[in-house]
Amino acid sequence: MADLVVAGAGMAGLVAAVEARSRGADVVVHEKGDRPGGSMRLSSGVVWRHRRLADFRRECPDGDPELQGLVHERLDDDLEWLQGLGARVSSRATGNPRTTGLRLDTRSLTHTLAERAGRVLLRTPLVELPEGVPTILATGGFPADRELVRVHITPQADALFLRATPWSTGDGFRLGLLAGGSASAGLAEFYGRAMPAPPARVAEPGFVPLAQLYARYAQVESPTGERYESSAWSEIDVVQWLARQPRARATFRVRASHLGQRVGDRTIGEMIDAAERAGGDVSRRNGSIAVDVVAGITTTLGGLRVDRSAHVTGHVWAAGGDVGGIATGGYASGLAAALVLGRIAAAAALESR
Ligand SMILES: Cc1cc2nc3c(=O)[nH]c(=O)nc-3n(C[C@H](O)[C@H](O)[C@H](O)COP(=O)(O)OP(=O)(O)OC[C@H]3O[C@@H](n4cnc5c(N)ncnc54)[C@H](O)[C@@H]3O)c2cc1C
Repeated sequence: MADLVVAGAGMAGLVAAVEARSRGADVVVHEKGDRPGGSMRLSSGVVWRHRRLADFRRECPDGDPELQGLVHERLDDDLEWLQGLGARVSSRATGNPRTTGLRLDTRSLTHTLAERAGRVLLRTPLVELPEGVPTILATGGFPADRELVRVHITPQADALFLRATPWSTGDGFRLGLLAGGSASAGLAEFYGRAMPAPPARVAEPGFVPLAQLYARYAQVESPTGERYESSAWSEIDVVQWLARQPRARATFRVRASHLGQRVGDRTIGEMIDAAERAGGDVSRRNGSIAVDVVAGITTTLGGLRVDRSAHVTGHVWAAGGDVGGIATGGYASGLAAALVLGRIAAAAALESR
């Protein structure tokens, strides 16, 4: 019998398995999908923290201060650890002056971690908790589960665009609750992006380049004429508002004079051109450009409640998107939380034996 069972071969699960193996443990990783990496592999790979803990607290005021403190304190060392394993850094800047961290090449990261994680059983979801064996739930939350999204986030669940791996359907959340764990704060919150609405065709390689991240320069209007003014740099507020509009849609209208404006590493004009090339509904008239967008869900921010050793209950620990209550009220790096809590969960689960 293994010393540790891990559910999910994404960021948190692979990190936990590598950490546990470095401590001499025999680990089995169950993976529901046909490849390792989860949403981590599809992501931009920016693993970041706010520069000051006070900014993290201010931007995510309803999150658990203890868990926020852990992520903040440990991230730099954990990034060193990842680099030491061989994960390739594509940039030492996050592209955002408010934050610090690294951009990692996600293929290299997945390969590096999967190679060191030991037994990774693909297409083998964890469906029940093994008796008496310490288990880490790292299944990536519930963005891909229409029913949980409908119950906790929006009645427009069917209209949302899934900008994440299709396998994160809340298995860890359900297993943790069944075992006697409890839910965190913020179950209604999620991180995502406005994406070009159908008829645009958006496949996995388009998740990052097709994101429409310029609501703060646009007039944002729902199909019923409701307007929204974005106030968060991450635009997480807009996408959460969008998710609750009819068919989770709105129009972003920008003046042509704004097309050269940079947001991160792209201009607004480049984002709109990309939407148009993907078949999105883009109309250019009288010096303004209108783009139809839909809410894209990437990660859920609510999940299982854990303590500072990532403990859920009994012989169950959790990390990554299965843990809620860290970024509540705002937005923080999911990869950073998965990295830090993944290592903590592995150490704590092994110590419990
Ligand atoms: C397009 C995109 C861009 C992003 N950009 C960033 C970014 O720049 N910075 C950032 O911090 N975050 C980013 N994210 C979010 C980030 O990828 C996630 O927060 C992170 O991957 C969460 O780690 P995780 O281990 O919880 O989930 P994942 O990495 O998704 O891994 C979960 C794994 O669990 C598996 N699984 C599900 N159910 C089961 C089961 N029952 N049994 C076994 N396995 C199961 C899944 O198949 C998956 O492989 C982005 C995500 C996407 C999709």
